[in-house]
Amino acid sequence: MMDAGRHPNITLYTNAEVVALRGSAGDFTATVRCYPRYVDQSRCTGCGKCSEVCPVVVPNEFDVGLGARKAIYSPFAQAVPSAYIIDRENCLNDRLIVCERCRRACERQAIDYDMQVQDVEVPVGAVIVATGFEVFDPYAMKTYGYSVSPEVMTGIEFERMLNASGPTRGRIIRPSDRKPPKRLAFVQCVGVRGERDCQYCSRFCCMNSVKNAMLAKEHEPGIEQVTIFYSDIRAFGKGYESFFNRSKEHDYIRYFRGKPSKIVRDAQTGELHIFVEDTFAGKPDKVVADMVVLASAAVPAEGTARLAETLGIELDESGFFKVVEENGEPLSTTREGIFLCGCARGPEDIPDSVAQGSGAAAAAQRYVAACRVEEVKQEIPPLNTDGPPRVGVFLCHCGVNIAGVVDVRSVADYVRELPGVVHVEDNLFLCSDAGQKLIQERVVEKGLTRVVVAACTPRTHEPIFQESLRLIGFNPYLFEMVNVRDQCSWVHSQEPERATLRARDQIRMGVARAHRLEPLEKRQISIERAVVVIGGGIAGIEAALRLDAQGFPVYLVEKEDELGGRLRELAFLAPHELPARTLLERKLAQLQASDVHVMTSVQVTQVTGFVGNFEVTTTRGLLRAGALILAIGAQPYQPAEEFAYGQTHAVMTNYELEHALAGGDADLFVGGRRVERVAFIQCVGSRNPDKNPNCSRICCGTTVRQARQLRRMGAEVVVFYRDMRTASHGGEEAYRQARGEGVIFVRVPDGRPPEVVPLAQGCHVRAFDAMLRDTVETDVDLVVLAAGLVPREPDTSKFREMLKVPCGPDGFVLERHPKLGPVETTSEGIFVAGCVQGPKGVGDALSQAAAAAAKASILMSRDQVSLDATTCTVLEERCRACGTCVSICQFHAPELYVLPSGARVARINEALCKGCGTCASWCPSDAIKARHFTDAQIEAMLEAMLLEEVA
Ligand SMILES: Cc1cc2nc3c(=O)[nH]c(=O)nc-3n(C[C@H](O)[C@H](O)[C@H](O)COP(=O)(O)OP(=O)(O)OC[C@H]3O[C@@H](n4cnc5c(N)ncnc54)[C@H](O)[C@@H]3O)c2cc1C
Ligand code: SF4
Ligand code: SF4
Repeated sequence: MMDAGRHPNITLYTNAEVVALRGSAGDFTATVRCYPRYVDQSRCTGCGKCSEVCPVVVPNEFDVGLGARKAIYSPFAQAVPSAYIIDRENCLNDRLIVCERCRRACERQAIDYDMQVQDVEVPVGAVIVATGFEVFDPYAMKTYGYSVSPEVMTGIEFERMLNASGPTRGRIIRPSDRKPPKRLAFVQCVGVRGERDCQYCSRFCCMNSVKNAMLAKEHEPGIEQVTIFYSDIRAFGKGYESFFNRSKEHDYIRYFRGKPSKIVRDAQTGELHIFVEDTFAGKPDKVVADMVVLASAAVPAEGTARLAETLGIELDESGFFKVVEENGEPLSTTREGIFLCGCARGPEDIPDSVAQGSGAAAAAQRYVAACRVEEVKQEIPPLNTDGPPRVGVFLCHCGVNIAGVVDVRSVADYVRELPGVVHVEDNLFLCSDAGQKLIQERVVEKGLTRVVVAACTPRTHEPIFQESLRLIGFNPYLFEMVNVRDQCSWVHSQEPERATLRARDQIRMGVARAHRLEPLEKRQISIERAVVVIGGGIAGIEAALRLDAQGFPVYLVEKEDELGGRLRELAFLAPHELPARTLLERKLAQLQASDVHVMTSVQVTQVTGFVGNFEVTTTRGLLRAGALILAIGAQPYQPAEEFAYGQTHAVMTNYELEHALAGGDADLFVGGRRVERVAFIQCVGSRNPDKNPNCSRICCGTTVRQARQLRRMGAEVVVFYRDMRTASHGGEEAYRQARGEGVIFVRVPDGRPPEVVPLAQGCHVRAFDAMLRDTVETDVDLVVLAAGLVPREPDTSKFREMLKVPCGPDGFVLERHPKLGPVETTSEGIFVAGCVQGPKGVGDALSQAAAAAAKASILMSRDQVSLDATTCTVLEERCRACGTCVSICQFHAPELYVLPSGARVARINEALCKGCGTCASWCPSDAIKARHFTDAQIEAMLEAMLLEEVA
C-alpha cells in the first residue's frame, strides 16, 4: 500500500467508485465519483487530534463491530492515505447540533464540512477489476446460532481478535464473559460445498483455519483443545501440505471429519454443544467448545452486479465477474480491455492473487504500451550529513506486537542517554504513511545525520524506510534497522523484562553501528532490452506473447523440436474439458503472428552476467538479455513398482491414460480387452512423508475429468482418495457432477493405501473404506494411478546451478517470497513461470506467466538499472592475489587481473556481487572490504554488546 501510495505514476482515488465507462479498449474514459472525506487530504497529517476530541463513539466496521471508533477517524492504523475522514451519518453537525470540535482541534485547518461529491473523468487504456470478495454472513443460518451466541463468530472476526492492533489487542476472549476459551472449534465450509449453499470451494479457508488453530495456542497458551470440523482439508498450495502436517503434530489440534448439523448454546454455562456425525466412526457425536469459529465462504463483494453493469461485463453463475476461459484467458473479462485479478474472479489465496495482479497488469500493458512512460524521477537535492553523527532513534510499537511485551517507554528513556543520540521518538506504526512522514519531518527538523529504526523485520521493511529517507535527500545507507519484534518481543513473548533488556542491548548495538555508517551511492548500468524465455510450454509461450505485445524483443528457447510442453500430451483440461490441442493451437497461431524469436531444439549451455546484462550461451549462439524467465515445467511422477505398476498393462498412470483418451469418448481397450471397470488411486507419489510430502494440486481435478469421460464411455468408475482437492475454479462443480453421473468416491484413511493384485485379466483392488469402516474389494479392467508432478530433472538442477536460483525442499525453484514475490527469484532479473515453481494447472500457469512478463517488462521499460551499493571491494595494496576470494564466491564476482606493472590483484565485479561478505571474511590478507558491513561497524557493535550483559 505504501509503495502504491507514494508511486509518482499512480493516482489514488479513495472513497470513490467508477460510475461510468465509455469508449473501447485502448481508449476508455472512466467517470470516477469521489465522495467527500470532509478532510482535506493534502493538509491532513494523520496526527489524530481531531479524533481525540470527537464526542461520538460508534462501532468500528474494520473491527467487524468488535471495537469502536469516533465519527472522525482513520479507517485503520496503516491506512493509505493516512488522512482522516468524517462519517457524516454519525457526525453531530449533521444532526443540527453545532459541535465542530474537530475543526477547532485541527492545527492544519484540514476540516471542510462543505466538501461536495466530485466526478472526475479519467482517460485510460485498460481497466483492472480487483474488487475482492465478502464473507458469507451466517446470520440467517439458524443451525449454527451465529445470531444468538456471541461465542460463535466468523473467521474474519476471529482474525481481528488475533491481530495485535485489533479490538482485543491480540487476545482471544469470549465476548460474553471476556475470558479466553479453553476449547476452541473451527467449522469448515460454512455456506459452501453443500446442497443449498454456494457450490464452489472457497479455496483459502482450510489453510486459514489450520494457521489460526496454531496461532490461537500461541496467543492463548491456556487453550487445551482445538477441533477442526472438515470435509476435505484442501492444502493444495505450495508448501501447504507440510504446514498441515506440522499442525497434526500438535496434540491439542484434532481434525474431526464431519459437518456439524447444529450448535446449541447452554444458557447457564455459555458452553457450545456441537452436534455432528463422525463420518469416520459412522455415528452421531457431540463436542463441547467454549468458542466456535465459522470458516465462512467467500462470496461476491457488494456492488459486484452494479459494477458489472457499469463496465458492461458479465457475471458467472456464482455472481463473481466472469472469466472468459479459465484455462485460456484466466484474467480476461467478457469485454476487451477489462481484466480481473484476485477474488473478483472467485475465491483465491494470497500468492495466486498477487501473481494475478501482476498478470493483469501485463495484460493491460498491451493497451497502454504506446504511451508507456518512464517512472517519473524527481531531482532530490541531498541533505548534508557531514559532521559528527547526530543519531535519531525511532521505536515502533507495531500495534501491540512489540509494545505488548517490550516496555517501549523505558527503552526510549534508556536510548536517550546513548552517545550521539539527539532524538528519540516512539510511534504506534512507523511503517504507516503517517509514521514515514514523521521520520522525514524529524530528520529535517532535528538535523539528523543517522537514523535508527527499532521495529519489525528488515527483510520486508528496510526498503520502505530507506525509500522514505531517499525521498528527502537523506542517503539511505546512513540508516540502520534493529529487529526488536522477531528477536525480542516474539522470542521472549512470555518474558517482558527479558524482551525489554534485549531490545535495549540490540538498539545500543544499532546506534553504535550507525555512528560508523558511511554514505554510499548506487551505480547505474544500461540495460539490454531483450528477454530470454527458457522453456516453450504453455507458460513460456504465454510469457513470450505478453512481452511481445508490448514491443519487447523476446527469445523463446525450447529444447525439444516442438513447442507446447505437456499440453501436447494432454487430451482435455480440467475442469471445463477444454481440448488441450485447441488451446495450444490458438497460442501457437498467436506466436506465429508475433515477433517472438522461437528457437526449438536448442539447449542453454551457460548463463553469465547479471540483471540488465545477461549473456545466454545456447547451442545456436549467444543471446544477450536484460531479463530471463525460467519456464521449464515439471514432470509427471514415475511410479516404481507400487500398486503393481510395471507388472501388468492393467495398471497405468493418469499421464499414460491421457494418450488413450485423446480419441474422445470412443471405447477404450487395454490388453485387447474393452475397459468396463476402472479404479483410480489418488496421491501416488504425492503426500507421502518418505518420498514427497507435498500435494500435486492437479491430480484430483484430472481424475474427475478422466473419470467423467470414462463414465460417458459406459465404464464403471471408482476413485480411492484421501481428500478430494478439486479446489480450482469450476473444480468443485465438476466433482459434484461426477458424483451425480455415478462415479463412486471411496475415502481411504491416511497411511492405508489400497492394495492392487494383478489378475490374468485386470486387477483385484482391496481398500479400507474410511466411511463404511470396512474393507471393500473389487475386480477392475484398469487401475489408474493419479501420479503427481515432480521437478523436471536434470534440467531444474542444471538451472539452479547456472542461474544461482535456490530450490525448496520439494526440489522446485524457490520464489523470492510466496506473497511478496511469487514470480521473482532471489537472483535479480530472473523470473519463474509455470510448473517449474511448483505443480499447478494451466490457468494458474498462464496467470503466473503473465505476471513474470509484467515483472520483466518493468526492467525493459527502463534505460538503466541501479545496482545496490552494499558490495565488496578489494583494497589492492593489500591483495596478494592468492585467489581465495575467486574460489570461495558462489556468484563468481571476484577475478584475478594483471596490472600494467605485471602484479596480479583480485577485483570484484560489483554487478555480480551480492554483498554477502563471504570473501571479506575468508581473505587471509584482510584485503576485502564489505562496504556496508565494514570491520569498524562490526567491531563497534561487538563493543556495544559487551558494554552490558546481553539479555
Ligand atoms: C497427467 C497430467 C494431467 C494434467 N491435467 C491437467 C488438467 O486437466 N488441467 C490443467 O489445467 N492442467 C493439467 N495438467 C497440468 C499441466 O500440464 C501444466 O499446468 C502445464 O503443462 C504447465 O505448463 P508449463 O509451461 O509450466 O510446463 P510444461 O508443459 O512442462 O512445459 C515446459 C517446457 O519447457 C521445456 N524445457 C524443459 N527443460 C528445458 C531446457 N533445459 N531448455 C529448454 N526448454 C526446456 C520442455 O520441453 C517443455 O516444452 C496435467 C498434467 C499432467 C502431467
Ligand atoms: S491426488 Fe493430487 S491433488 Fe489430490 S490430494 Fe492427492 S496429491 Fe493432492
Ligand atoms: S561479497 Fe559475496 S558475492 Fe560479493 S564477491 Fe564476496 S563472496 Fe562474492
